[in-house]
Amino acid sequence: GKAAAPAHVLVFPWPIQGHLNAMLHLAVALAGAGVHVTFLHTDYNLRRLGAAAAAVASPWLRFMSVPDGLPDDHPRTVADLGEIGRSIRTAGRAAYRALLASLQLMPVDAAGGGFPPVTTVVADALLPFATDVAEEFGVPALAFRTASACSFLAYMSVPRLVELGELPFPPGGDLDEPVRGVPGMEGFLRRRDLPSPCRHHGANNDTAALLGRLVNAALHSSKARALILNTATSLEAPALAHIAPRMRDVFAVGPLHAMSPAPAVATSLWREDDGCMAWLDGQADRSVVYVSLGSLTVISLEQFTEFLSGLVAAGYPFLWVLRPDMVMASQSTTNLHEAVMAAGKNSKARVAEWAPQRDVLRHRAVGCFLTHAGWNSTLEAAVEGVPTVCWPFFADQQINSRFVGGVWRTGLDMKDVCDAAVVERMVREAMESGEIRGSAQAVARQLRRDIAEGGSSAMELERLVAFIRELVMPIQHAESEL
Ligand code: UDP
Repeated sequence: GKAAAPAHVLVFPWPIQGHLNAMLHLAVALAGAGVHVTFLHTDYNLRRLGAAAAAVASPWLRFMSVPDGLPDDHPRTVADLGEIGRSIRTAGRAAYRALLASLQLMPVDAAGGGFPPVTTVVADALLPFATDVAEEFGVPALAFRTASACSFLAYMSVPRLVELGELPFPPGGDLDEPVRGVPGMEGFLRRRDLPSPCRHHGANNDTAALLGRLVNAALHSSKARALILNTATSLEAPALAHIAPRMRDVFAVGPLHAMSPAPAVATSLWREDDGCMAWLDGQADRSVVYVSLGSLTVISLEQFTEFLSGLVAAGYPFLWVLRPDMVMASQSTTNLHEAVMAAGKNSKARVAEWAPQRDVLRHRAVGCFLTHAGWNSTLEAAVEGVPTVCWPFFADQQINSRFVGGVWRTGLDMKDVCDAAVVERMVREAMESGEIRGSAQAVARQLRRDIAEGGSSAMELERLVAFIRELVMPIQHAESEL
């Protein structure tokens, strides 16, 4: 019968921090709505999450894992992302296929406590094979894009940019030139704001091949039953309007992290340094600059020094996340930490290898956020009304920065040029400008309305849950016809 249709969603993220965070928050939201969810980690990440993963498991949500195909002792650093990707597309794909087959054969617990067969796959949009494999099994698949709608539209527009002759960029051309071809962003988007692999378009190298794969993945999302985006209509209505006609359906359900119940769901692959919260407690209201470049950014020692000089010159206390693998060619993080502490005269600086970022951004002492403008970080700052200074590193971060500085006006776009004087000037402006703070707070208020009951994202999430339940129906009909 209709009422009994049990939905079971298999969620399969690209196994890196930013993707895990967004997709885990979606998993928690679906489980909260009474949908069974199996969240698929890699064996390696599940081991890293350890007890934290188990802590969020509920009768509705469970964790499973497949090998990523790399040896256990492989370091899996940022530099290995290409290799990890290749391995997931081959060994990971085979393991995922086998798991999906076994889940379909598992009998439903007669008492109703067990997980029914998978009725929907929610696959990371960067893993197009996950959608195809699901459909081979007759399991409908949805694509989840964890980054901004504006970046997705830019990737989708690459073929058009080539047609118009905007790509490849002329050798030595000015990156500040505007580009045509991304609908709704004409005259606004500069070459430098396009997805960073565009800079290598036409070259014969790994980055050019990566762009091809990313564009194909974006176009492939139109085959999925629907596209899920971690964004809100209030932030990205124009981009969403251009995306929607090219997809079978679109759900804008973000910012998902703010919908997850408190206490925050633990997602960190690194150990969070809780001591920085106590340090923040000792600082004055809105006096601290929080600095984090996310989970993937790698900078040179020269860039590290530019940031440090700029921060010191700006004169505010700062909390800086320095991942152990973040600064190239540095012999030890201890030296970097010491350099920061010495420059900050010990009392004015605090270093963490990894911070509980969501709590940090919510802390009254934080006045602005120097960020790489990763989409999760951008949303986390936006929800808390914290102004950002954006130094985009790669991928979608350039276009996110452009929107922060030029559309939402919740912060400043440093562009990807690293210079101590710019850091100093922009940090001061973000800390002191009433205009930027005003827009940041207005965006925060709007996002809170979006995720509250009756708000656009909350309603989109309800529609998504109903959509997922509907996808069960064909199976039910088939059974009743037997
Ligand atoms: N993050 C964190 N602690 C840190 C740095 C980052 O918890 O010290 C989290 C941050 O809250 C965000 C994620 O890591 O949810 C990074 O994702 P984002 O999309 O901002 O950037 P990426 O790491 O994918 O480049």
